[in-house]
Amino acid sequence: QREEEAIKLDGLNVAQLKELRDRAEKFTFQTEVNRMMKLIINSLYRNKEIFLRELISNASDALDKIRMLSLTDKEVLDSTPEMNIRIKADKEAGMLHITDTGIGMTKEDLVNNLGTIAKSGTAEFLSKMQDSSSSQDMNDMIGQFGVGFYSSFLVADKVIVTTKNNADKQYIWESDSSSFSIVEDPRGDSLKRGSTISLQLKPEAKDFLEIETVRNLVKKYSQFINFPIYLWASKT
Ligand code: ADP
Ligand code: MG
Repeated sequence: QREEEAIKLDGLNVAQLKELRDRAEKFTFQTEVNRMMKLIINSLYRNKEIFLRELISNASDALDKIRMLSLTDKEVLDSTPEMNIRIKADKEAGMLHITDTGIGMTKEDLVNNLGTIAKSGTAEFLSKMQDSSSSQDMNDMIGQFGVGFYSSFLVADKVIVTTKNNADKQYIWESDSSSFSIVEDPRGDSLKRGSTISLQLKPEAKDFLEIETVRNLVKKYSQFINFPIYLWASKT
């Protein structure tokens, strides 16, 4: 299968990934998540690039959270003292990876945060989007509300989240937007702390592997980000 061969995670080969997939725990998305994803795909196809704004803002939020905890307990940073965001474009594999050394997610966080819609703001966004007809309304709303993690599916066929919180082991969350799965990461705690969001880009979204494109978007969306953002690109 084309999909499975294209997926490449550092330190895991195709056979290992397949074996992991076979024994991963399967979950279904909450109904609201399915509605949200449909809405995002149908209304934001002209603004696909906002996925990067959302992923950078989530990375920054996760870093804010660990920094906040460190004010009262500096040992939380022992797992790694680094606080940064790294974006890596892997042209050969057709994948874009966004890594942060933020708070990370426990298995329970993964199920709750990336399987349901917990935010009242998102519910409000959902109902307003369904009411609005003009694209200007929609553009205004995209600016006002964070449309969130699920906007990854504007550009990705498959999204893989690798994550490590101090209080739990490292996990791999994977979804093709119809359902999701979670499995313990056999690579141990390679992340030390934080998350990597890996996007297997759709054929029509391959421009987001161009370093210039990514650099310009990062410039556009990172004015208010208080952590360093590093860019990496494969040579091919
Ligand atoms: P919001 O950021 O408005 O809460 P999102 O859809 O962007 O909504 O993200 C949903 C939730 O998933 C976040 O609230 C957070 O708990 C979790 N999350 C997403 N990305 C990350 C990340 N990089 N690190 C830690 N948690 C994350
Ligand atoms: Mg967000």
